[in-house]
Amino acid sequence: MTRTGPAGPSGAAGTTARRSVLISGAGVCGAALAYWLHRSGCAVTVVEKAGAPRDGGYPIDIRGTATEVVRRMGILPRLRDAHLDARRLTFLDADGSEVASLTPGAVAGGAEGQDLEVRRGDLTTILHAAVRDDLEFLFDDSIDTLDQAGPEVDVTFRSGRRRTFDLVLGADGMHSHTRQAVFGPEERFHRHLGYCFALFTMANTRGLAREVVVWNTPGRTAALYAAGDGDDVHALLAFHRPRPPVAALRDPGARRDLVAAAFTGAGWEVPGMVGAMRDADDLFFDTVGQIRMPHWSSGRVALVGDAAYAPSFLTGQGTSLALVGAYMLAHALAVHRDHTAAFAAYERALRPFVAMNQALVDNGAATLLPVTARALDRRNTMLRNLVAVPSATARPAHTALTLPEFTPLP
Ligand SMILES: Cc1cc2nc3c(=O)[nH]c(=O)nc-3n(C[C@H](O)[C@H](O)[C@H](O)COP(=O)(O)OP(=O)(O)OC[C@H]3O[C@@H](n4cnc5c(N)ncnc54)[C@H](O)[C@@H]3O)c2cc1C
Repeated sequence: MTRTGPAGPSGAAGTTARRSVLISGAGVCGAALAYWLHRSGCAVTVVEKAGAPRDGGYPIDIRGTATEVVRRMGILPRLRDAHLDARRLTFLDADGSEVASLTPGAVAGGAEGQDLEVRRGDLTTILHAAVRDDLEFLFDDSIDTLDQAGPEVDVTFRSGRRRTFDLVLGADGMHSHTRQAVFGPEERFHRHLGYCFALFTMANTRGLAREVVVWNTPGRTAALYAAGDGDDVHALLAFHRPRPPVAALRDPGARRDLVAAAFTGAGWEVPGMVGAMRDADDLFFDTVGQIRMPHWSSGRVALVGDAAYAPSFLTGQGTSLALVGAYMLAHALAVHRDHTAAFAAYERALRPFVAMNQALVDNGAATLLPVTARALDRRNTMLRNLVAVPSATARPAHTALTLPEFTPLP
């Protein structure tokens, strides 16, 4: 289905044909992609399986090249207002005694004063507000089948709707249904990194304020993140698990038991955290893993964000990759009328950036989740040495891509 509309994609050789695009997923990536595709003249529909944009989750980072994406979207001032600016990151030993206390940037390698850390829900709200009046959103629905046999993509939805689109773009996260439907089962592309994690909100019983406290024993990490000085903190329980716990991934009760068992006998605040995890109504549990695919498109379907190249939270770059990936895919589609050429250009331009950022994972694991006593000792020595360093420099991977310009629309 190629419709005619008033605004053609910028740089698309003066054509006025409008592409119809279905985006699966209204998360960070889906909303950013919707924004840029709409700006370049596409007719955009977004389908989201939740009833509204999903908030919740640990604070996320927007760094380097991704800050330029949000600046070009005009939402940088709102994100600066939402910036959390945690003051301290304190690491503790098994008995709760202090190992080192640093600025968060010294460990993660951010560019102070430029990079952003915001509540994930604040980011999705701001992104959604930037597009909600201009596009069609289908909440509480999802793609059931995709048929590319004809010249377009015929889509049936779980609700029973049937529609036809020029392109379908999967921005439906780490466990992407679009990827499963077009490229095959997740096991082919998921690289398990040997850990599981649980995130939830709990009462701020320690009176923490704008700080993060991380407790470790070999193979176990517990962390409390006080975004402000309010009554709640974000809690993380992560642990070593060489193989993915298949049963626990399917059964919410089993995953709570699994987390509790992993932290048996732990000291510090951990028993209270485990109790809070059992009662939490916002528990987010997953394995720590990356998505690695040989190609990100097939026919008229392409993947973007975590669905195509999730780097895992150990890199702290999932959101930044999603924002940059959305921009680069929309840009390629604006420049190339032929979707095959556009998808190839997107992949060519983005792959080196993705590879550099996925490679940050080893450093993240060594810092946040050391598995052996020796690795934990090494990590603690590294942290004590970092205390003496006044400030860290930004990681080259964060800024390794220069964004091409979107030609302004008439
Ligand atoms: C509720 C939630 C909490 C999170 N918490 C954290 C966190 O604490 N720390 C962290 O590092 N990362 C977290 N993440 C992941 C983080 O947001 C992403 O790594 C990053 O922002 C990349 O975004 P994405 O848009 O590619 O994927 P996601 O942010 O995962 O967004 C995917 C979107 O697609 C939707 N979706 C999934 N399946 C379908 C389907 N079949 N049909 C339609 N829609 C679908 C989801 O509901 C979601 O809105 C969380 C994600 C979610 C959804």
